[in-house]
Amino acid sequence: MKNICLLGSTGYIGINALKVIKGNPGRYNIISLGAGENVDLLLSQIKEFKPKHAAVINNNLAEELKKKLNNFTSTKILWGNDGYAEIATLPEIDLVIGAMSGFSGLAPIYSAITACKDIALANKESLVVAGSLLMSESKKRGVKIFPIDSEHSAIQQSIQGHNREDLKKIILTGSGGPFRNLPIDRLTMVKPEEALKHPNWRMGMKITIDSATLMNKGLEAIEAKWLFNLEMDQIEILIHPQSIIHSMVEYMDGSIMAQLSTTDMRIPIAYALSYPRHLKGDTKPLNLLDVGNLSFEKPDKEKFKCLDLALTADKAGGSMMSVLNGANEIAVNAFLQGKIGFIEIPELIERTMENHEIFSIDSIDKAIEADQWARTRAKKILNTWR
Ligand code: MG
Repeated sequence: MKNICLLGSTGYIGINALKVIKGNPGRYNIISLGAGENVDLLLSQIKEFKPKHAAVINNNLAEELKKKLNNFTSTKILWGNDGYAEIATLPEIDLVIGAMSGFSGLAPIYSAITACKDIALANKESLVVAGSLLMSESKKRGVKIFPIDSEHSAIQQSIQGHNREDLKKIILTGSGGPFRNLPIDRLTMVKPEEALKHPNWRMGMKITIDSATLMNKGLEAIEAKWLFNLEMDQIEILIHPQSIIHSMVEYMDGSIMAQLSTTDMRIPIAYALSYPRHLKGDTKPLNLLDVGNLSFEKPDKEKFKCLDLALTADKAGGSMMSVLNGANEIAVNAFLQGKIGFIEIPELIERTMENHEIFSIDSIDKAIEADQWARTRAKKILNTWR
């Protein structure tokens, strides 16, 4: 029985993680649940899974939750960053599922690592902004990080049983998003609701926009670099519109290992929870005859400028990673609120990155400082937008 803390329980990954846990009775035990503002969904999760602890984003919501629970369970309700840190570091916890969205995932994941908890990681932003720090702390403490991101899960599965020194490179695949075939001049008119229609995957809002801009693939390349200890030039990005091959590993002899499946996040979630086993799930099997063809193409870096912005930030390193990420979070929100157009997302990020004086990220406080600098700067630029 694995004792689990689930951070981000009301988000897309969280909901699916709970489905996986429910589908494997006797294997996992939910000790604590962390959510943001969705009190009603958290309430029903608490009633179903009866965790010892739960946390929400602020005191008001914590009070609201306590009132609605009305002593239904003995679940202790906490709130804020201290609350998330507490529920992620309880002594009985074996594994923390990091499924919060964006920069907010960093602090509780870092707390969990310093408390020697293994991590099933969906929150790629934490590795993007503080990869060096998180990986060195994990190594020091013998903490294992199991990726939930489907591409990274595919890589981990393709590495199993092979010699690390034989690895030549990884091939990170991506669908290319909903605008892969849209002419570059039509991108200016794209509406949030069109960008939110991912061709293959159903996911949270932020990552769906990141997929449409290809920022997601840039963030994933950085995530892969840290998770698998690679040089950036060992990572090839390949557009694969069918999303059947979730990524590949190429070896020195020219052999390529790949992982294929339907686009169902429960598969990588289940693998991260039961690594290295492939347990029976109730996901639809892949029918290759229905798929027919698999195709591949180069990413269009002219059309999707976010990809190169991510790689530029990675070259610069240090606090520039938090600036890339913070500016992207502001830009995605501004686009969703109709304040900027789709092609202005990379423009706002680039303008925020300009003139940033890089410093090294040797603590969580430094990452927070860089993140706040980026948000303040991006908002200031937004205020005078056009
Ligand atoms: Mg992914």
